[in-house]
Amino acid sequence: MSSFKTLDDLGDVNGKVALVRVDLNLPMQDGSVTDDTRIRAAAPTVLELSQKGAKVLLLAHFGRPKGERVSTQSLSMVVGAVEKVLGKEVMFVPEIAGDIVKQSVGILRPGDIAILENTRFWKGEEKNDPDLAKAMAENADFYVNDAFSAAHRAHATTEGLAKVLPAYAGRSMEAELKALDAALGKPVKPVAAVVGGAKVSSKLDVLTHLVTQVDHLIIGGGMANTFLAAKGVNVGKSLCEHDLADTANKILETADKSGCTVHLPYEVVVSKEFAANPASLRTCNVHEVAEDEMILDAGPSAAEALGDVLKTCKTLVWNGPLGAFEMQPFDAATVALAKTAAALTHEGSLVSVAGGGDTVAALNHAGVAQDFSYISTAGGAFLEWMEGKELPGVVALEA
Ligand code: ADP
Ligand code: MG
Repeated sequence: MSSFKTLDDLGDVNGKVALVRVDLNLPMQDGSVTDDTRIRAAAPTVLELSQKGAKVLLLAHFGRPKGERVSTQSLSMVVGAVEKVLGKEVMFVPEIAGDIVKQSVGILRPGDIAILENTRFWKGEEKNDPDLAKAMAENADFYVNDAFSAAHRAHATTEGLAKVLPAYAGRSMEAELKALDAALGKPVKPVAAVVGGAKVSSKLDVLTHLVTQVDHLIIGGGMANTFLAAKGVNVGKSLCEHDLADTANKILETADKSGCTVHLPYEVVVSKEFAANPASLRTCNVHEVAEDEMILDAGPSAAEALGDVLKTCKTLVWNGPLGAFEMQPFDAATVALAKTAAALTHEGSLVSVAGGGDTVAALNHAGVAQDFSYISTAGGAFLEWMEGKELPGVVALEA
């Protein structure tokens, strides 16, 4: 990560107009916002700019309207929820560029906040049309990107605007980039990665990148079965991508060459049915899985051994649960390892960064999310970062 400007680099912004890209792609039900996490993430940046006297114009996408005005996807629907979190009145502007935005800027006083319409109503947004970026920039003095979750897309409001206006990272973006840099950019070694979840196929690039970056790779979840099967272990009816055996072996070879130790479960929790608390539940050695059984979690001793691996490490990056954690007792290994990671972080001996939809849910379920150094809710952008890809929205801020 090279350097980027933050809100600390802003001079006097009193009366200046800020275009601020935030994530307002909020979960909604029957017209109301069901989870305001993303608004709360954007609030520090928005309020700081407002307190400094800027006129704050918020830019965000909502859903996939594909370049058309779709009334059910208007950002006017989130104004109330945003006002509630910010504790301030927010104006709604049904455009993102042109005279209506200009007139609205004229009405706003220093410190006032407006939400512009869903950026994806305009085709130029996803095409990263430079003319659209220029048209938006005409009504503003500077650009702030506070939406790391959209930074893997090169769109007009995530990338294009940074080229035509002075560009700054918002507080959420800044925190995310610092945490990710501490985890994989310039981590304190030894570094461990936990990669779990359902399938190898969805995280091939993550695995391939990580084996060249980390000292220990802990593979769990359904994807561990693919690796076990590739090594000749009979995994019964477990979720397993048998056709990826060669790929799995290649990843293991690369790990070997890179000095990365791969940890697969040697003990597993199995059952004959995919259900909570099944009658057929048992714990066994990984070589004792019966033809009609499936592996649904790592066993307790294996989980403890993985905890011992973390105790030798200084940095942890985690994506994907170790088992089918939605069903008890197949949450046990994930919960146990999460608690170990949280305790080590609390003691100050581990920097722990985690991300992924189900991972965040699993860490919340384990009750340890607040003890991790950083939890990313960025989804696709977090995974692309774990794949070692450059994120266009971040690169544009660094330029
Ligand atoms: P994330 O959203 O954090 O990136 P994934 O979506 O890759 O994580 O994986 C989570 C899913 O993997 C969960 O639904 C979980 O039930 C499933 N899973 C984990 N282990 C197994 C297993 N052994 N068998 C089947 N499904 C599993
Ligand atoms: Mg998932």
